[in-house]
Amino acid sequence: MKKIFPILIILSLLLTSCGTVEVQSDKMQVYTSFYAMYDFARTIGGDDADIHNIVPTGTEPHDFEPTAADIARLSKADVFIYNGGIDGWAEKVAANLPETVRVVCASENLSGTESDPHIWLNFYNAQMQMESIYKAFATADNGNSQKYLDRMTEYTSKLDRLEEEYENAGLRGKKLFVTHGAYGYLCEEFGMEQIALEGISGESDPSPAQMAAVVGQIKNEGAPCIFYDPLEGDKMARIVASEADIEALPLYTFEGDGENRDYLTIMRENLNQLKRII
Ligand SMILES: [Zn+2]
Repeated sequence: MKKIFPILIILSLLLTSCGTVEVQSDKMQVYTSFYAMYDFARTIGGDDADIHNIVPTGTEPHDFEPTAADIARLSKADVFIYNGGIDGWAEKVAANLPETVRVVCASENLSGTESDPHIWLNFYNAQMQMESIYKAFATADNGNSQKYLDRMTEYTSKLDRLEEEYENAGLRGKKLFVTHGAYGYLCEEFGMEQIALEGISGESDPSPAQMAAVVGQIKNEGAPCIFYDPLEGDKMARIVASEADIEALPLYTFEGDGENRDYLTIMRENLNQLKRII
């Protein structure tokens, strides 16, 4: 009998170190529904939290469905953050998670999310979402709350400066032709008008009549370009661009990013692109 116990201990050590169980860490375990939420969480959490994203980084989140393994991972979270609307699955899963999981719906208290879920594409909304995330972190991991606050404050002040650049860029009154209608809140903030080839979900391809109508509008307005999100692809934008003899240019929705860039970098890149319509 004496020899059996060490063998069992070794076996169990091997099992836990072979990836059958997730790496043990003393840090706060945070799960996020998709890339925008993941990025906000890592910005505030820094080295003090382990952040795990459910929708793979380069994947479009609108029609995502989690696996049973995803749900099992979520049930072990200290904090689970979702946006609302775009990640309908998350809302359903969140309702059935154990009480030990602190759930944050980052669009709570922000209006309009039922009709258009892309609320992070607006500086005020993004900062409100970061504040919700900070509050959850400060409660779930009170010992590090000052560090979470410092990171959020530093980042949001950088966002304030970029927001000012947007305000002074001369975007007011401009028309924004896009494939995926994700930029409603951005347009609202800076006085632009969005004309989208596809709907808000970006799932269905436009009909030939819709294509012709947008091409007609582009010609009437003398618009220089149509924008597409590289995550979704440029196929439709290129067809319209060729019909209307204009350019097709990238404008990020921040729903995912193959290059793992942060919100500030993407929003700066978007401003550079938007300068084409001024
Ligand atoms: Zn979208």
